Amino acid sequence: MKTINGHFQAATLPYAKNALAPVISENTLDFHYGKHLQAYLDNLNAALPGSGMEGLSLEEIVRKAEGGLFNNAGQVLNHNLYFTQFRAYPSGPHSEQVLTDNRPYGELGDAITRDFGSFDAFKETFQQKGVTLFGSGWVWLSTDKQGRLAITQEPNAGNPVRSGRTPLLTFDVWEHAYYLDYQNRRAAQLSALWTIIDWRVIESRYAAR
Ligand code: MN
Repeated sequence: MKTINGHFQAATLPYAKNALAPVISENTLDFHYGKHLQAYLDNLNAALPGSGMEGLSLEEIVRKAEGGLFNNAGQVLNHNLYFTQFRAYPSGPHSEQVLTDNRPYGELGDAITRDFGSFDAFKETFQQKGVTLFGSGWVWLSTDKQGRLAITQEPNAGNPVRSGRTPLLTFDVWEHAYYLDYQNRRAAQLSALWTIIDWRVIESRYAAR
């Protein structure tokens, strides 16, 4: 998480703004990344001076803060993790194969099979937790230091770092994340997100726990 002159910045998108379509449109990114995340950033940077938390990392602020400072710091951390976990929607002659192969491998792939039975069972549980989260919030895959995985529903700005865990993968189930593209169809948005997850990013977060 980069700061410039003590001000937190949005993570740079690792893809073009139109590259996630049709799963997430450029219009949604313009609002979600360009407006919603920016508002959380502006609020966080305005609330930091005099809070006693200047100079802490964003994760430390999210662990320790309460009230408005927590809400805005949490939303900045959550969105930075969310927006950097995607890669371009596949196109071209091998796109079907790219979609079929889009899953975790290596240590993380093994851990998902161990802790959830199979990758498909994991996806089904994760998706169901997102669909059934009442109101606004996030569904998370996280790990402890030993590599044991868990899926949790976190209301509002919640993040598993508050429980001492390392966040790996998240679906944003606030309406602002999907309303422009899917209106009220939260489940349709969540099932489409699997096609653009960059599992190499999630694997590296797991390895760095
Ligand atoms: Mn959001």
